[in-house]
Amino acid sequence: MRRLVLLGGGHAHLHLLTEMAREPMPGVQAVLATAYARQIHSDMLPGWMAGHYTLPQCAIALEPLARAAKVELALSGAVTLDAGERTVTLADGRVAEYDVLSIDTESVLDREAIPGAREHGLFLRPIEHFVQLYERLLALPGDRLLNLVVIGGDAAGFEISLALQQRFNGHGLERARVCLVTGGGTVLPGFGAALRERALRVLRRARITVFSQRCTEIGSGVVMLDNGARLACDVPLLTLPAVVPPWLRDSALARDEQGFVSIGETLQSTSHDEVFATGDVASGGEREPARNGVFALRAGPALAMNLRRKLAGGPLQPWRPRRQSPTLLACGERRAIASWGQWSAQGRWAWALKDWIGRRFVARYAEPAVPGAALATSAERGGDPAP
Ligand SMILES: Cc1cc2nc3c(=O)[nH]c(=O)nc-3n(C[C@H](O)[C@H](O)[C@H](O)COP(=O)(O)OP(=O)(O)OC[C@H]3O[C@@H](n4cnc5c(N)ncnc54)[C@H](O)[C@@H]3O)c2cc1C
Repeated sequence: MRRLVLLGGGHAHLHLLTEMAREPMPGVQAVLATAYARQIHSDMLPGWMAGHYTLPQCAIALEPLARAAKVELALSGAVTLDAGERTVTLADGRVAEYDVLSIDTESVLDREAIPGAREHGLFLRPIEHFVQLYERLLALPGDRLLNLVVIGGDAAGFEISLALQQRFNGHGLERARVCLVTGGGTVLPGFGAALRERALRVLRRARITVFSQRCTEIGSGVVMLDNGARLACDVPLLTLPAVVPPWLRDSALARDEQGFVSIGETLQSTSHDEVFATGDVASGGEREPARNGVFALRAGPALAMNLRRKLAGGPLQPWRPRRQSPTLLACGERRAIASWGQWSAQGRWAWALKDWIGRRFVARYAEPAVPGAALATSAERGGDPAP
């Protein structure tokens, strides 16, 4: 028996499990070790925050997928990876030995990046923790105006600012003042100038105050900026650039200069060819610099094929995804911005498309996999068809 360990229930692993249910891997004993029993679909998180969805509508249960794939499920996250010994230690103390390892765990937010963030900040990841804390925020008494400050001007920061505005101030409510601190630059860095302008107009129209400064410190009731400004803040919500978790940092796997796991075209680690990595924690090969779910899901079919071949001793195939992917940004109320390259547009139709894609993605993985059934593709995350 060859031992396959899958870490994390991320996008590529969702595809892999569905694929394994349709076509089992003979002679392979597989374990999925993952931190949480469900996968909350991040595309739909801003919609949930805004009040458009219930949490079950955004969640994929991992146990039925693992059962259908005949993969043992260990509900415990990795805390140590010894790539030399080929072992993974889980939070519950179990040690999983592997012949082949596939990593599709999420990136984490650096809690030390801003002094005071660890003590006072509400971090967007892990999403499972975030949703519990957000529910507590919603339950705060509405007897005074709350100051909510979103720190991080990336796509997630943009979407959650507008979601907060909709939830706390939509439908005639007036429960919060929402600010967005973009961190020493404009909103949506990495996107085209026209889209950034469009995004700023949307934020302005929603009456969200945007500060382009960097946040230097977070204290009790205050957020400090690098121009000396002090913003009154009851709850700072943080979406900072992603980093890899300590257990990956401390493994012997080769990593790029930012710390992400270095992979080649076949999705294998450049230092340990029995280790595969996909999604936000991986870097290299043909991947584009952006870390997003479309790209993570696109890796699924190639990962499934190469794991199968590696376990059977066959030749692996390079993965060459399309570099560009469309973006759909939720704008709080039931509107969204759609963009592709330099093109962008916005409206209710874009929200309807995002809503349809999100619901369909979750529904796909809620259905039991049966032999011959079509698999979800990245088109169902707003991406192009999988290779
Ligand atoms: C608010 C928000 C909105 C977003 N919207 C979009 C969007 O509209 N479109 C888009 O393409 N991207 C979007 N993204 C980005 C997208 O969420 C990520 O790029 C994507 O989730 C990365 O997928 P992944 O497969 O790497 O990991 P994930 O899908 O994040 O899955 C990680 C898995 O690893 C598990 N795990 C975590 N730690 C451990 C551990 N130590 N051991 C084992 N398992 C572990 C988790 O439980 C989870 O199952 C959004 C992100 C956020 C925060």
